[in-house]
Amino acid sequence: MTQQAFGNNRISKEYLLEHGFYLRSQEGNLVIDKNVIVVYDVSSYGKVGFNSIIVHVEAGIIVTKKTSRQLMNGVCETNGWGFTLAKFLASYLGVKSFIPLVNAYFTLMPMRGAIKGNTDWIAPLLIRQARVKNEKLNLITTQGNELQVDFPKGNFEQRMHDVALLNEASFLFSKRMFAFGVCELIPPKDKGYFESFERCNCEDHQKMRAMLQNLSNMIDEFEKYLLHRLEIEEIQKNEILKIYFQNLSRIKRLN
Ligand SMILES: [Zn+2]
Repeated sequence: MTQQAFGNNRISKEYLLEHGFYLRSQEGNLVIDKNVIVVYDVSSYGKVGFNSIIVHVEAGIIVTKKTSRQLMNGVCETNGWGFTLAKFLASYLGVKSFIPLVNAYFTLMPMRGAIKGNTDWIAPLLIRQARVKNEKLNLITTQGNELQVDFPKGNFEQRMHDVALLNEASFLFSKRMFAFGVCELIPPKDKGYFESFERCNCEDHQKMRAMLQNLSNMIDEFEKYLLHRLEIEEIQKNEILKIYFQNLSRIKRLN
């Protein structure tokens, strides 16, 4: 999508619904990928005939009957990973709400808590500037388009900080893994809205970077996270987990 695509208009869900830009696009087998800038939730608009509008760098505007929740959950059908890494890192680093989809720099951030319902999602990598005014988040993309999404409550910069923290953790996790395999994982040149947060040296960032130094420990923690999700009866829990951990550690060794 180029700046000319919409002239100087600021794109919002209301604008798209009113001006019918979506008519230029077709419903298709769409996949949420690295070129998605924004997913608009329009499920509450009733009779428009679709539930989400996607703003995509290459495809432009795409409308779909799928809800934003279905679209985001659909990511795990494409990469088999979905929110797994994000939820693990969030639990490990103490980020409690507004969990983004995180897979290194392919990160999408919900505007509201997205566990149960639909909401708008944005891709910070493709955003250059952001400012909240009157419960709206005004965005300028890395390509110069102006977009607006609902931002009903909260401190955007603070929430973005946590998203950037998870994003960097996810990248460092993969980077250390590949570095051990004598390959180098290179981040994108333009880090969009993540750029300034990667210079953040707060306690949380320092702690995260220190934790991610120890790859072996991260793998152990990941296993722990998965095993604790098995919801084993409390009475036998410790014993059963001990056996599972032993079995898992055997996979890592020769015997
Ligand atoms: Zn920080």
